[in-house]
Amino acid sequence: MMNPEKTSPVIYLVVPCYNEEEALPVSAKKMQEKLAQLVQQEKISQNSRIVFVDDGSKDETWRCIESLHAENAVFRGIRLSRNCGHQRALLAGLMTVRSQCDAAISLDADLQDDINAIDGMVEQFLDGCEIVYGVRRDRTSDSAFKRGTAQTYYKMMRAMGVELVYDHADYRLMSSRVLAELSGYEEVNVFLRGLVPMLGFRTGEVYYARAPRMQGESKYPLRKMLAFAFEGVTSLSIKPIRMITFLGFAIFLVSLAMLVYVLIRHFLGYTVVGWTFLAVSVWGIGGLQLLSIGIVGEYIGKIYLETKRRPRYHIETYLQ
Ligand code: UDP
Ligand code: MG
Repeated sequence: MMNPEKTSPVIYLVVPCYNEEEALPVSAKKMQEKLAQLVQQEKISQNSRIVFVDDGSKDETWRCIESLHAENAVFRGIRLSRNCGHQRALLAGLMTVRSQCDAAISLDADLQDDINAIDGMVEQFLDGCEIVYGVRRDRTSDSAFKRGTAQTYYKMMRAMGVELVYDHADYRLMSSRVLAELSGYEEVNVFLRGLVPMLGFRTGEVYYARAPRMQGESKYPLRKMLAFAFEGVTSLSIKPIRMITFLGFAIFLVSLAMLVYVLIRHFLGYTVVGWTFLAVSVWGIGGLQLLSIGIVGEYIGKIYLETKRRPRYHIETYLQ
């Protein structure tokens, strides 16, 4: 990492945009002002930039980015060939700029996440944090439904063994060094929120209040939200497979109890012919099948994790 005492760091803001023609002009201005303010305070270098990633927008977003870029060199633009989704657009931006900056801050184009939190992020970065999470202090601006589902989701993910920072979305600072480590995660299904905590390193948190979206509408309809939630579970956890194994085992145990019960009834003579055989078979075979599927699943889960070829460690310091 560069020495913060000597020069102020080059900070890049990375902003994924999908059909954001309404929000972009307003947001770009605010981001530019924020950057200028930090440059003036000599907290960040004047080589800092704002990079918009157009995620295959169908409206005038790219034209808007082009004209911002023509107006002022502080704005840069990356255009994806098609809509790849928020996470991939963000990753594309981060990976493109990672060698040009000392740290990158990812934030949404609608500026629902308070831009003033950037000050705190930069400060903590200068204090030696490699990752700084923006965490929502309250979610009163979100609908009760969104809040409720989000809360349940965080809890469920925890139960699945996925480490998530509570009430943190994708508003975060990452040092170029952490970005380099992140580039080692070559998986196709990216769920950054779950991946970044896996990296380790010194982390910090900045709290802010989340505002409602001012321009345009949410680009995350319920359908995309559910897909995103499902992606989070399946790309990070193989616990669902384990649950099948447990279920199979439980049913197998029940079948043993059934065997005893059925035999008792059989010898007491309370049965029609063939019932004993059928009842025990149904439970026994059902349980064994689930158990077997679960065991096969365990191996598939292992194969799945292996195919991701994730880095096995990250070295923080090497004294030599
Ligand atoms: N976004 C994107 N690609 C998509 C959907 C969304 O790049 O396919 C961007 C969008 O432009 C915004 C950010 O992801 O900058 C978050 O989207 P939004 O604000 O609509 O989500 P919400 O705040 O409602 O969860
Ligand atoms: Mg938003």
